[in-house]
Amino acid sequence: MPQWNRIDPDLRQGIDVVSRVLPFRTNCYVLENLIEWSNVPDDPIFQLVFPQRGMLYPEQFRAVESTLWKGGSLEELARVVSRVRLELNPHPGGQLTHNVPVLEGRPLPGLQHKYAETVLLFPAQGQTCHVYCTYCFRWAQFVGIEGLRFATPSTSDLVAYLKAHPEITDVLITGGDPMIMQAAQLRRYIEPLLSPELEQVRNIRIGTKALTTWPSRFTSNPDADACLRLFEEIVAADRHLAVMGHYSHPVELEPETARAAVRRVRSTGAEIRMQAPLVKHINDSADVWAALWRTGVRLGLVPYYMFVERDTGPRNYFEVPLARACEIFKEAFSRVSGLARTAKGPAMSAFPGKVRILDVRTLREILGDELVPSSDPEQRVFLCDFIQARDPAWIGRTFFAAFDPRAAWFDQLKPAFRNQSFPFPTKSEGQLSLFGSSVAEALLH
Ligand SMILES: *Cc1c(COP(=O)(O)O)cnc(C)c1O
Ligand code: SF4
Repeated sequence: MPQWNRIDPDLRQGIDVVSRVLPFRTNCYVLENLIEWSNVPDDPIFQLVFPQRGMLYPEQFRAVESTLWKGGSLEELARVVSRVRLELNPHPGGQLTHNVPVLEGRPLPGLQHKYAETVLLFPAQGQTCHVYCTYCFRWAQFVGIEGLRFATPSTSDLVAYLKAHPEITDVLITGGDPMIMQAAQLRRYIEPLLSPELEQVRNIRIGTKALTTWPSRFTSNPDADACLRLFEEIVAADRHLAVMGHYSHPVELEPETARAAVRRVRSTGAEIRMQAPLVKHINDSADVWAALWRTGVRLGLVPYYMFVERDTGPRNYFEVPLARACEIFKEAFSRVSGLARTAKGPAMSAFPGKVRILDVRTLREILGDELVPSSDPEQRVFLCDFIQARDPAWIGRTFFAAFDPRAAWFDQLKPAFRNQSFPFPTKSEGQLSLFGSSVAEALLH
């Protein structure tokens, strides 16, 4: 790793200014093992951890820079920084506020229940990470805008809620990064779920990026063995333990420590599934995803989601249009072994559910002989489906959205056909209605 003062001064200035606004945290493992310094600033992991000038709009950048430059007071800097942060949509999608479950009239903070079979648990001590990803949609929490409102100090609310909801089979422990916790802390959350009374809990997932940003946490760290023993106990209690590894780029699977971490975690009987958002400057190419899935499968990982980057923070910097995301997914998917075709995406966690862009099709391809004379056979539409949904009846249902080469998030999608609305609610307001007409019907209306 080069010394900080040997990094290009312009690059350093950019990092200095942007890191006043967006969270920045890295560690020696990442700096020494994952970043190819001769390739900076284009190096994907450099982009993943170091704030970049382009993440702010020029006027936002200048406002922060000039306050620093003229030696403004801390209060003045805080005011400018706070204004810029509010311009970056710090509260996207209402994910965290819409789905807080209620038990006997009491909201249960630190839990989220959006899809029938799965409940999310946000342990209070697991709401930070070893390294912050520049594209993280939880960035507002890390700079203190959101606080820890969405975290819970214990599992007791969850246990009570599970007893009242026997349909829940999956508990997903998430953050932040729960693997930042010591094994003893993690155990306090997990052990109660293993009791025979809660046999309904079949699957326990732990979402983490520690396998790539701090792999010695599972190998040589003083707490590593305690952590692996906990994993073994989960498996011995006849639960499926899925470690949802956040893997953004195949380079993260290269270091021997990262591979040793995979071997040790898998030796407990846990499965590791791999998922990440598709992010410009980091992994926006089919080559990268094909290599990631191929390497992962060879090491025994199971490809899971390719997410679309959420509409918050430096989204303009990271955004990949949905049409391009779909192309990247399809191309990577077509190039890998069937064993890697467990990958699903590109998927957007939107209000009604996880929406996947399946394909871009023309009306001619969809309708063939049923094409009505007045329509343009070359008109393109997005073919979408739900891979997860608030209403389980929607899962697997396909629908069409108007093709827009620039659309990069669900709220930019419009119904494909005139006089039609999407047959599901797109926001929390609005009536729930079930899927309606087929395309042919829609065109004839
Ligand atoms: C993705 C997700 C889940 C899990 O869905 P699976 O299809 O089982 O992977 C659960 N809750 C929320 C809020 C999610 O976004
Ligand atoms: S590991 Fe996850 S929660 Fe932590 S910074 Fe990265 S994306 Fe955000």
